[in-house]
This record gives sequence, structure tokens and C-alpha cells, in this order.
Amino acid sequence: MVVVMASDATEEQIAHVTERVESVGGQAFVSRGVVRTIIGLVGDIDSFHGLNLRSMPGVANVHRISDPFKLVSRQHHPDRSTVWVGPAGNKVPIGPETFTFIAGPCAVETASQTLEAAEMAKAAGATLLRGGAFKPRTSPYAFQGLGVKGLEILADVRETTGLPIVTEIVDARDVAVVAEHADMLQVGTRNMANFGLLQAVGDAGKPVLLKRGMTATIEEWLMAAEYVAQRGNLDVVLCERGIRTFEPTTRNTLDISAVPVVQAWSHLPVIVDPSHAGGRKDLVVPLSRAAIGVGADGIIVDVHPDPEHALCDGPQALLGTELRALAQAVRQLPPVLGRVDALERIRG
Ligand code: PEP
Ligand code: MN
Repeated sequence: MVVVMASDATEEQIAHVTERVESVGGQAFVSRGVVRTIIGLVGDIDSFHGLNLRSMPGVANVHRISDPFKLVSRQHHPDRSTVWVGPAGNKVPIGPETFTFIAGPCAVETASQTLEAAEMAKAAGATLLRGGAFKPRTSPYAFQGLGVKGLEILADVRETTGLPIVTEIVDARDVAVVAEHADMLQVGTRNMANFGLLQAVGDAGKPVLLKRGMTATIEEWLMAAEYVAQRGNLDVVLCERGIRTFEPTTRNTLDISAVPVVQAWSHLPVIVDPSHAGGRKDLVVPLSRAAIGVGADGIIVDVHPDPEHALCDGPQALLGTELRALAQAVRQLPPVLGRVDALERIRG
């Protein structure tokens, strides 16, 4: 941390800052310039926060040097991480060496719809199945998901297809039941800053897929990941799913630059959700190509056997031509960038 003193700060004010820093066990290095004095702090950053340095007389500004998200930062963990998802013997990697394709229905509606969507996903090359049993809907009148029945359907479909399951959790009270059925717990955009939920999923002992809040900065998103990591769970995969901007043509605006920025700041894998970003099936393939090109560690995509009758997010669900084009992109483009298919990595 660096404390910048005001140009008219007195010697007493400078001495006061150094004394307070030393009182909490830190060291203060005073550097006097022509106009201003700056003080470099070395020590435990959390104890400096408790000092309220900004409110001290003569202090003009305080700058942080180290990342506030310690556990998920690359500052102390330079190598990028791989998160493994699935039951023992059938774990799928998400990380820097592979490109992981996750697909499935937005919501679990019936057993046959989920199985059909999973088979479509698998045929297109997906190695993990997505599907919401608890749906965080904007309207309380919209389909809220099948709840525990939906989790049971997902578990049956995993049995049939072999695809491990990623599913959303919206309420901390459901952590045990969701963790019992799912292989990865998803925290959606609307709950990214639900800190109690983040702590609860951090305690659940399963990998976590943490979507970016639709109005969250990258730093806020990484601080949310830090809540999970702080509970001893570093198996967190970040998901860029578009942010709110003034542009109404697309459902959200995919912040593609967030991918390399996050990869530079954090060791956690980062994937892209082109379906919820664009909200339109015609954009899923181009946005997926962009995600692969920018170095994302995977994508998560909505598919549905009958999008016209989908209970949730039908307009963005893939079927037919678009799904074939996506399967082709996912097969052909990642190797150009040096990534192997998740399945190849499993097989060694
Ligand atoms: C979802 O993946 O089903 C979902 C609701 O996504 P998001 O939280 O990104 O809106
Ligand atoms: Mn959805």
C-alpha cells in the first residue's frame, strides 16, 4: 500500500501515519519528493484497512499495490489452475490445456426433454451437461424449475449418458440436496453477490461455476470467487455471460475482453456463456468462435429438442444447423490455439 500525503501535510501528520502503521506491526517507508511525501507500507494489509488511513489528517490518497482477492489471484499462484468436475473415474477438466464444451437445456422440464437435450449435447461433443432445476426467474410468475424432481432427472440422465452435471443453486438452504445430486454447483448472475450463498457453496465440497454479475466489475466478480475460496474451496470456474449496457439489440453485451483480463489476474479457469450473453441462437456460434479465439477455457451453451415450446430461454437454444455449426467450431478451432479436447486430456 502507498499513502500519498497532501502537498501541505505537516511533519506531525506524516509522523502520525507512520506511528499508526507501526502500532499494528507494519513498516512505513517515508519518501519525500519536491511537492509531496509518499509513505510505502509493508505488512499485513488487513490490519492497515482497520486504520482508516484515508481519514487521517494530511492524507490525500491511499493506493493498493497487491490484489484484494488473495486466494484467487495469480500474484501468489502464478500457474493457471485446472478444475476437475465429475464423479471419481469420470472427471472432466476445465483449465488452460483443454477446451471444455458444456451444453444442455436452460431448464429441466421433463425427463424425456432433458435426456434428448443431453443426447444432442453429447453428440455435438459436450463433456458436461448443464440444466437448471432451480431457476432464478426475473418474474415470480415464470416457470421456477422442477426443484428436487429436476435434480433427480439430471442424476438419471447422467447415469444414461455419462455426462457429469452442472446445475444452478439459488438458495443456501438447498446446498445439501443440490450437492448430493450435482457434480458442479452454478451460482448465477443474479446471485453473484449473495455472499451467504457463496460461503455455503464454498462449504459444499463440490466445484463451483461462478457467473459474472450482470452489473459487476471484474474485481467484484473475483472478490465473489474469493468468498468461495476463503471457505477452502479453490475449485471455482468463472463464467463471463454478458453484462448490462445501453445496447438493447442483444440480451446482454458479451465482455469478451474480460476473458484475457481475468486470466491475467486470476489463476482460475474462465469460460463463456454465449447463449445468455446474446440471448439469440443466431449469435451463439459467432460468440463461441470469439470465445475460443480469445482463449476461453470453455463454453456453456443452451440446447433444447423443441425450442419453440421451451419453458425458459427458447430463443437462444440451439438445435439442428446451428448446433452442427457449433460442434464443428468446437472441434476445429481450439486445436489451432493449442488446446486439446477435454476427453483427450482424460484419456491422456
Ligand atoms: C442459466 O445459466 O441458466 C442462467 C440463468 O444464467 P445467468 O445466471 O447467466 O442468467
Ligand atoms: Mn437461461
